[in-house]
Amino acid sequence: MSDRYKTILLFGPPGVGKGTQGKIIANIPGFFHSSTGDIFRNLDASSEVGRLFYKYSSRGELVPDDVTIKIWATNIYANTILGLFKETQDILVLDGMPRNRNQANLLYRYIDVLCVLNLVCKDKEALFERMKKRAIKSSRIDDAKDDVIRRRFEVYQAETQPVLEFYDPELIRNIDAMNSPAQVLHDVLEALVPIQNSHYNAETPSEG
Ligand code: ADP
Repeated sequence: MSDRYKTILLFGPPGVGKGTQGKIIANIPGFFHSSTGDIFRNLDASSEVGRLFYKYSSRGELVPDDVTIKIWATNIYANTILGLFKETQDILVLDGMPRNRNQANLLYRYIDVLCVLNLVCKDKEALFERMKKRAIKSSRIDDAKDDVIRRRFEVYQAETQPVLEFYDPELIRNIDAMNSPAQVLHDVLEALVPIQNSHYNAETPSEG
């Protein structure tokens, strides 16, 4: 199926640095970064879906799959209409999804996964501390309480980690997220460069 979005998945536990890497990749022409966490946080908090997001995220739980996929698909569609995501040229960098096997199944018709960048960190306490710092810095209510963070790790281990089994092991690149940010970026680029090279159309105009 060639009409699916060419996609790279940013995968890993909460606080591992997916968002940091995603934002850097988003600045490289030819990649479009889509973060479900960002999409949810940008919803009008008083809307029905905004309230639903708050209800689940404030408990460290996942938003129901049907709502998640619907909001994400609408957001991606809007970005194609606006010309921000050029679906035939850009590689989609999906951050924060799929979070369980059902989402992986539901996403199959949309995305053609070229690579899974699996950010690995064995030190759970380090991730815990990172999340607490981030919660204070960016006023993320979902990460402020210890029990909510613990719940998010439980959900990750029980529901999200098994998603890796859904993909061909040859597509999975394990990257040590505890290295320095530049080293992590280096390892991420080592995986991305050959993929972009094989999809890059030199005639595509770049901005600036
Ligand atoms: P982090 O980057 O800290 O791992 P996110 O910013 O991706 O977390 O997500 C914040 C919250 O948004 C999650 O705790 C969850 O409630 C909701 N969320 C994000 N992505 C998904 C998803 N794919 N499915 C269900 N809920 C999601």
